[in-house]
This record gives sequence, structure tokens and C-alpha cells, in this order.
Amino acid sequence: MRAEIIAVGTELLLGQTVNTNATYLSQGLAELGIDVYFQTVVGDNAGRISQAIELARTRADLILFTGGLGPTQDDLTKDALADYLNRAIELHQPSMDKIVEMFTSRGIHMVESNRRQAHLIEGSDPLMNDAGLAVGNGLTEDGTHYVLLPGPPREMKVMFDGPAKAWIRSVMGEERKLYSRQLMFAGIGESNLEEALIDLINAQTDPSIAPYAKDGEVAIRISTKALDQAEADIRLDATEAQIKARVGKHLYAREDIPLEEAVIRLLRASTRTLASAESLTGGLFAQLLTQIPGSSGEFAGGVVTYTNMMKHKLLSIPMSQLEGTDAPGAVSESTAALMAERVRELADSDFGVSLTGVAGPAESEGKPVGLVYFGLAERGKQTRVFTAKLSGNRGIIRLRAAKSLMYRLWQALSGTEEN
Ligand code: AMP
Ligand code: MG
Repeated sequence: MRAEIIAVGTELLLGQTVNTNATYLSQGLAELGIDVYFQTVVGDNAGRISQAIELARTRADLILFTGGLGPTQDDLTKDALADYLNRAIELHQPSMDKIVEMFTSRGIHMVESNRRQAHLIEGSDPLMNDAGLAVGNGLTEDGTHYVLLPGPPREMKVMFDGPAKAWIRSVMGEERKLYSRQLMFAGIGESNLEEALIDLINAQTDPSIAPYAKDGEVAIRISTKALDQAEADIRLDATEAQIKARVGKHLYAREDIPLEEAVIRLLRASTRTLASAESLTGGLFAQLLTQIPGSSGEFAGGVVTYTNMMKHKLLSIPMSQLEGTDAPGAVSESTAALMAERVRELADSDFGVSLTGVAGPAESEGKPVGLVYFGLAERGKQTRVFTAKLSGNRGIIRLRAAKSLMYRLWQALSGTEEN
């Protein structure tokens, strides 16, 4: 089913009101598995509303109106659609009773125009308004379904989520719903991931495959329309298997979680612990881990040893390692290894990791911006050091450094390390 949303209101065209109703309706329709092909905005003008209807019915099976159901002379949506369809306007008595009761109970005089809010296009189904006075309408003609909703977002949402969705479902019959699965990747950029899958992405319409980048991770959403979860899973499983065959070694989760959460879960599952020593990231790595609730069971803690003096004092790294013409320097493989080992010993944890590098904007120790060393010390094992040359500004380099180390750790924990 294809839908079009027509938002009615001159204030929308003037830019005085943001068309939040269209956003809300588009999201809701997507959940129902209905494709929204067009969103239209038209002013409070009968002729132009009519033109919008004329165009929409050539390209949509379901037309949703929002706005223009109020009592005043510029609220024209019902009249315009009734005119267009050559139908009369009727009074919906239960809504009228509600309006009268409201005015009576508040002791306010009801003017004649208030009756307009109880109007129903001939032959349409009333959509009750539990948050206001104007009754909504649902009707079908020549295979096109029309739904009229009020403009005030508070009323529109309640009516859409309740009676309007029920009405749409009833006219859809056994329509297919959208089922999605999110696959999360790390250690591969969005463009490389897309390139590895480009023929699949281009060839597939159902399930559809859509990559999008997050902070340091890439997500792929695969979606299909199905009658139920079981039918959807058959197709989603097949597509997931195709994707895994190509880039499976980068897949760290089948739900929308950050890489650090996957790391915490793996540590938890194997009852192992971790400590960190950070230089260029200044605690960002620890920050990522401690954002995960309950991570204190796995993450013992970390030190930020930014200056050489702190590397020396907190981690007992000899000054001769850090300074002097022949010294390896703070940004070096051997310093990264020492930092990881010393912090692991300090915390008596199963893993100790470290980050040291040049975040920029200027080079340091004659080493270029973006050069980063990662240390990974593991109880009873040989310490490993990884190198990366990261690009971006200072903030991006720091985030990428923390995420790169997270990825190395994930590889070590999931047994997917390459040699
Ligand atoms: P109406 O149904 O035309 O009486 O609309 C009443 C009020 O609802 C307007 O003054 C706007 O503040 C708000 N409104 C109408 N249409 C929209 C829309 N598409 N998105 C968000 N707010 C709206
Ligand atoms: Mg209006």
C-alpha cells in the first residue's frame, strides 16, 4: 500500500509551524508496513486542497490529511474532500453531544461554527477524538482510502494511534508488516562495507539492505515485509547469511548496541576483567566502557597518564624509556606494551590495554598526527601491540583510537584475531 500525507494549514507554508505531524505519521505508517511516497503541504484554500487531492489519488492508495478540522472558516479539509467526492456533509450526533456537553459543563456559549467539528463526510466512518472535539473521518472511494485527522499534534497522535490505525488495518486486510534486523560492524569503514556488499545492495529489494555509519561503527539494517515474524526470519536469515559470508569477521552484534557493550558482554561471559592506561584519549576509552550499566563487574578502572611524569610515577615506566635522544619515546610500541602490562599488574586484571599516540593538531616527538599504538596485555600471554594511522581532526582521531582498541579487544575476546 502506498500512502501520501497531506498536511493542511497556511501556517505550515509560512514556516510558523513545523510539520511534525508528517514525521509522526510517516513513522507510524512505516511500522504498519505502508510506504509513504509523498508528503504534501497545502494552505487553507479549498481550490488548492482539491488540487492536492486530485494529484494524490493518482499516486497513493491511502491519503492521510492532518489539519483543518477545527471550527473556524479556514478549516476546510472536510468540505473540500466532500466537494471533491460529491458527497454531502452530515452531523455525527455522538460528537455533537460531546461538544454540547463540553460547552455546557464549562458554562461557555457555543457558537454555531462549533457544529463543524462534529461534521462527517457522507458514508464515512467516524474516528473518535479522545483528546479534543473534532471528529476524524475514514472513507473509501474507487479503491482510494481517505483518513482525516486533526491538526493539533496532541489530538492527531491520539487519534492516529487509536481509531485511525485500527481503521487503516481493517481496510488493508492481511497486509504485510515491516520486519527489520540490525547488524553491527566494527573494524571496517562504511564505504568499504558498502563496497563489499554493493552487488547485494543493488540487486536486493526484499529484503532491503541499508548501511549507515554510527560513531566508530557501521550498522546495516535489513528489512522485509512479511505476514509474521516467522516468515520474515526466513528471508532475513538468508540475507544475513549472504552478508556474513563476506564481512562476517567484522560483525560484532545482531542488535543495535555499541562495540563497547559487546566487549563487556564477552568479558562477562568469560568472567574476565580489564584495566586501561590512556594517553592521547585522556579517558575516552574508560568513558565508553563505563557508559555501559553494570560494567564495574568487568572494567576494574583506568589511569590517564598524559605526561611522561605521570607515565613514570603511576606506571613505573623508566624516564629513560620516555625521554632522551635515543629513547623510544612516549609514542612507541614499547611504551604501549609497558603501559598495558603495568596497568594490568596494578589492577590484577585479566587484560590490560593502553593507548598512546598523536591526536594532533601538531606532531609530537617527531611522530605524525594520527599515529597510535595500542597495547594489549593478557594474563599468561605475550603482550601484543598494534599500530594505526588514523585520519581526521583531533576529536575524530581520539574517538577512532578508542574504538580501534575496542575492536582489537573484541577480536581477542571473540577469538577472531588475525595473525
Ligand atoms: P487545525 O487543525 O488547522 O485547526 O490546526 C490547529 C493547530 O495544530 C495549528 O495551529 C498548528 O499549531 C497545529 N498543526 C496543524 N497542522 C500541523 C502539522 N502538520 N504539524 C504540526 N502541528 C500542526
Ligand atoms: Mg489550520
